[in-house]
Amino acid sequence: MKDLISNCFLCEEKALHIAGTEEAQVMQCINCGYTTSTKFNGTKETNEEFQKLGEDMKNWAKEENGYIWIPSIITLPIGMLYPINNKSKELKWAFASMVEIPEEDRKKYPNPSMPGKFYEKKIDTDNAVVYDLFLEGMTMINEMLKQKASSGE
Ligand SMILES: [Zn+2]
Repeated sequence: MKDLISNCFLCEEKALHIAGTEEAQVMQCINCGYTTSTKFNGTKETNEEFQKLGEDMKNWAKEENGYIWIPSIITLPIGMLYPINNKSKELKWAFASMVEIPEEDRKKYPNPSMPGKFYEKKIDTDNAVVYDLFLEGMTMINEMLKQKASSGE
C-alpha cells in the first residue's frame, strides 16, 4: 500500500496520511491526530459506526469532507498515545508507557484469551504524560524509539 500525504481537512497542515484503496481507505493526520476511514463516511446522524463509539469519542468527533473524524489511538510496543479530556473538557493527548507488571501483582491481570496465563506487561495509564498537541506526543514517541534503537534494546 502506498501512502499519500495531503493537506489535512481539519488542521490544514500537510500531514494527512492516506492509505488503502477507495473501498477501504484510512486517513490519519499526524499533526492534529484526527483519523477517519471509509466506514466513517456520512454524518453523525446517519453513520452506524459512529453510534457505536463511546461518549467521549462522540463528543470529540468532527464532520468534514463527507467523513466523521475521530481522535486516533496509537498503540505501540512501548506504550499508547490516546485522547483524553482535561478538567475543562478540552481534548488533550496522553502517553502511557508499557511497563513490566511486578511478579507478585501478575495474578491480578489474567489473560482472557489464554486461560491460566497472566499478563507480564501493562499500559501504565496511572502515570500517563499529558500533551496539549498530538504532534508533541508523536515527537516524544519518535525520540523514545530512536533511543531504544541506539541502545540496542
Ligand atoms: Zn490535521
